[in-house]
Amino acid sequence: MGDRLKDRVAIVTGGARGIGEGCAKAMAAEGARVVVADVKDADAARTVREIEARGGSAVYVRTDVLDAASIRACVHATLERFGALHALVNNAGTHFPHAIDELSSEKWDFMLDLNLKSMFLFCQAALPELRKAKGAIVNMSSVRGLIGQTDAVAYCASKAGILGFTRGLARDEAKNGVRVNAICPSNVRTPLMEEWLAKQKDPAAMRKLCEDAQPIGRMAEIEEIGRVAVFLACADSSFMTGTHLVVDGGALLD
Ligand code: NAD
Repeated sequence: MGDRLKDRVAIVTGGARGIGEGCAKAMAAEGARVVVADVKDADAARTVREIEARGGSAVYVRTDVLDAASIRACVHATLERFGALHALVNNAGTHFPHAIDELSSEKWDFMLDLNLKSMFLFCQAALPELRKAKGAIVNMSSVRGLIGQTDAVAYCASKAGILGFTRGLARDEAKNGVRVNAICPSNVRTPLMEEWLAKQKDPAAMRKLCEDAQPIGRMAEIEEIGRVAVFLACADSSFMTGTHLVVDGGALLD
């Protein structure tokens, strides 16, 4: 166990599985008390169990990031349980392929609400506590917020929007001592990725393409993203705000 987040309290949205699980585990491994904010009860229970088995501290607070009241209840539960809030990782989000001609207004709204508006709502609810703690916010964007992707206009818009939101909020909160940064991963081996691969005509060939997209020759593991979230949440990044870290195995080099 490290101590870079010793005695810190962190909320990780979408912390039950995938990249959020990686963030929750990496932060707990550095001493943070982690609140897993998610809607997947079984996955969340497993993640909490695995953190505790490694000697870390975590609790599951069922939270729907599409619902402002649920978000406020999560912040409240965090304070009741741990008495403070030092870090917020806004990670919950999704991706589904959508050609623009078939994209309904409802599906556009869903993607933007889940991937982007949820961050606004969570930050708004958490900022009073984060200001007291001089804390940090880490927003999960994507390389797709920097470059395009076929059949993904709403996803790309949401991920680019996160970067704009991050910069705007960083300006506002610098005077309050709260730092705000983002992470842009490329392909990460998560349940969402595995579910998508399984639906492809030739999953093995598509997996190879997804691996070869990174010059490093593989997808990222979830804790490789989690450790970057630790860096942005802890004092090691004390002079960084309003920026993003590309964590892409070299994918954007070409
Ligand atoms: P995932 O589906 O494996 O995990 C997402 C988690 O978010 C799940 O536990 C899910 O229950 C939770 N979640 C979804 N809707 C929620 C809601 N309304 N309230 C609370 N929790 C909710 O996905 P992932 O691949 O780990 O992706 C996580 C984030 O990382 C997303 O924002 C995604 O866009 C981003 N990302 C993923 C990749 C990748 O290759 N997997 C690459 C770049 C960015």
